[in-house]
Amino acid sequence: MPSRRFADGEVVMGRWPGSVLYYEVKVTGYNYVSHLYTVKYKDGTELALKESDIKSQSSFKHRKSQSSSSSPSRRSTSRSRSRSPGRPAKGRRRSSSQSREPKDDKKKTIQETNLALLVLICLFIKPSENNTRRYNGEPESTERNDTSCTVLEEKLKPDLELERVLEQYSLRPRKEEKKKEEIYSEKKIFETVKTIEKPSSKTKELEFGGRIGTFMLIFFLPATVFYLLLMCKQDDPSLLNVPPFPALESLWEPRAFGLFLLWFFLQALFYLLPIGKVVEGLPLSNGRKLHYRINGFYAFILTAAAIGTLLYFQFELHYLYDHFVQFAVSAAVFSLGLSIYLYIRSLKAPEEELAPGGNSGYFVYDFFTGHELNPRIGSFDLKYFCELRPGLIGWVVINLAMLLAEMKIHNQSMPSLSMILVNSFQLLYVLDALWNEEAILTTMDITHDGFGFMLAFGDLVWVPFVYSLQAFYLVGHPTAVSWPVAAAITVLNGIGYYIFRRANSQKNSFRRNPADPKLAYLKFIPTATGKGLLVTGWWGFVRHPNYLGDIIMALAWSLPCGFNHILPYFYVIYFICLLVHREARDEHHCKQKYGLAWERYCQRVPYRIFPYIY
Ligand code: NDP
Repeated sequence: MPSRRFADGEVVMGRWPGSVLYYEVKVTGYNYVSHLYTVKYKDGTELALKESDIKSQSSFKHRKSQSSSSSPSRRSTSRSRSRSPGRPAKGRRRSSSQSREPKDDKKKTIQETNLALLVLICLFIKPSENNTRRYNGEPESTERNDTSCTVLEEKLKPDLELERVLEQYSLRPRKEEKKKEEIYSEKKIFETVKTIEKPSSKTKELEFGGRIGTFMLIFFLPATVFYLLLMCKQDDPSLLNVPPFPALESLWEPRAFGLFLLWFFLQALFYLLPIGKVVEGLPLSNGRKLHYRINGFYAFILTAAAIGTLLYFQFELHYLYDHFVQFAVSAAVFSLGLSIYLYIRSLKAPEEELAPGGNSGYFVYDFFTGHELNPRIGSFDLKYFCELRPGLIGWVVINLAMLLAEMKIHNQSMPSLSMILVNSFQLLYVLDALWNEEAILTTMDITHDGFGFMLAFGDLVWVPFVYSLQAFYLVGHPTAVSWPVAAAITVLNGIGYYIFRRANSQKNSFRRNPADPKLAYLKFIPTATGKGLLVTGWWGFVRHPNYLGDIIMALAWSLPCGFNHILPYFYVIYFICLLVHREARDEHHCKQKYGLAWERYCQRVPYRIFPYIY
C-alpha cells in the first residue's frame, strides 16, 4: 500500500482546481486506489485533490518570509480585492529557485491564470454599480458581509461578482448569451474535475439510524407490508383490529413464486431487447461513464400486449388478487435472495466501484444500503433494471387485476368510479416515469445509493404491493364517489402532476444544458463545482417542488377511497415521511457539495417542501 503524506484531520493548503490559488483545507480522507485526498474547504465544500496539489502550511510560511510579494499565504489573509489570481504568479516568479514546479509548467499556469483573470475583469467591470445592486433586490452590503473568514472572502469574491453578472445575463439573454456559455464552459472544467476526482472512500456518516436502525428496518419493512395486506383483507380494516397471523404454510404457494420468476425474467428479456437509444450515465469516481439502454416505455407496451393476449385467452388475472399475500411473500423471498447475492458479489468489487453511501465496513449497514454502486452482469445493470421495470410495471398490472377482481366479485359490468380514478392516476404516474426514464440516471438512487436490501426490497416488494393498496382496498371496501367529487379529485391530481412534471423537467433541462436559450429567464447561483442552483422558477418557489407535486398526487390517489378508514391513506402518510427524510438526506449532500452557495440558496428559498409551512 503506498504511503500517504498527509494524515486525516491535518490542516494544509489545497490548490483550487484549475487555478494557482491555495486555500486552507482540512484533510478528511484518502483513497488508496485513486491516490486522491478528500479535503474540506472552510466554506464546507469538499473536493478530491492529488497529493501534488496539496502543500503543508509550513512551506507557505517559508515562502512568505522570503518574499514580500503576494504569496498565497499572504493573499489568503488580505482583504484587498487587488490580490487577484494573477498576483501569485508574480510572487512565484521571484522565488522560482524554491519552486517545485518545472519552469515550463509554471509559465503555462501563469498564462492560464492571467487569461482567466482577464475574462473575469472584463465581466466584472462591465455591469454598472446600480446593476449589481439589482441582485435579488438585496442591498449590496448583504452580499459583502456574509463572509466570516478572509481566506473564504478571497475565494468567494469572484463567485459573488460572477453571480451578479450571470443574473444580469438572464435579464439580457440574447446579447450576453455567448459570454454565459463561455463562463459555463470554463466552469464545466471544475465540474468535470470534481466529478471525476471524487474518490469512493469509506462511508463515515451512517444514515437510517446506523447499524441498529438498518438491522431493525430489515425486519420492520417486510412486517409492515404483510401487516398492511392482512389488514386490508379484513372486513373491518381499522387500525385497532389487528389481523390474526395466518398459518405459515398458507403464505407459500409455489405457483405464485413461479409466476413471479416468470414475470421478472420476462421483464429482463424486454430490457435486453436492442430497441431504444443508449445513453451515458454521470461520470463515476474513476471518470468512466456507464451506458444505459432507454427502453422502459417499450417494455411497458410489450407487457400490455402480453397481458391483453392473456385476457383474450380468458386468463383469470384476478388470480393475483386471490393470492396477493402469497405473491408478496414470493417477491420478498426473491428480493432477500437477490440482496444476499448482491452483497456477496460486492465483496469482490474494486473499492472504486463501491457506493459512496454504502461502504461503511459494517456488514448490516452495507447489506441494507447496498455495498456496490452499479452491480452489473455483463452489460445488464441490476439496479437500473429493478428501479423501473418489474416493480413499477408490476404495480400497474396489480391495479388492473384489482379492477377485474372488483368487477367479478361485485358482479359489475363496469369498474367503480373510484377504482377507475385510482387506476388512471397511478397509470399516468408510471407512464410518466417510463417516458422520462433517462431522468432516473441523475437521481440519488443511481448516483449515490448502492444496490442492496433497501432498493431490492423497495423496488420489488414495497412499490408494487404497498403502492397498490388503494386498489386492493377498494375491492373489499367499495366506495361510491359522486361525479363532482371525482372531478375535484382529478383536478387535484392534475395540479400535483403539473407541479411534479414541470419542476423535474426544469431541473433536468437546466442540468443538461444550462446555456439553453429557453431557460434564459431563470436565475441561478453559481457554485464552486461549476453547477448552478436555480433560484427562480419552480426551484425558487420551494427547495423541492417536485416532492410537493408528488405529495399532492399521493393525496389524490387516496381520496377516492373515502374517509371510513385510515388504511388507504397509509401511502400519503408514509410518502410525506419518506420525502421529508429524503429531503434532509439530499440537503445534507448538497451542503457538502456546494458549501456556502447552498446556504445562500436556502436563504433565498427558505421553505423546503411546503410553502410557508415547512
Ligand atoms: P431530486 O430530483 O429532487 O433532485 C435533488 C437534486 O437536485 C439535488 O441533489 C441537486 O443535485 C439538485 N438540485 C437541488 N436544488 C437545486 C436547484 N435549486 N437547482 C438545480 N438543481 C438543484 O431527487 P430525487 O431523486 O429525490 O427525486 C426525483 C423524483 O422522484 C422526485 O419527483 C420525487 O418526488 C420522486 N420520488 C418518488 C418516489 C416514490 O416512491 N414514488 C421516491 C423518491 C423520489 P445536483 O446539484 O447534483 O444536480
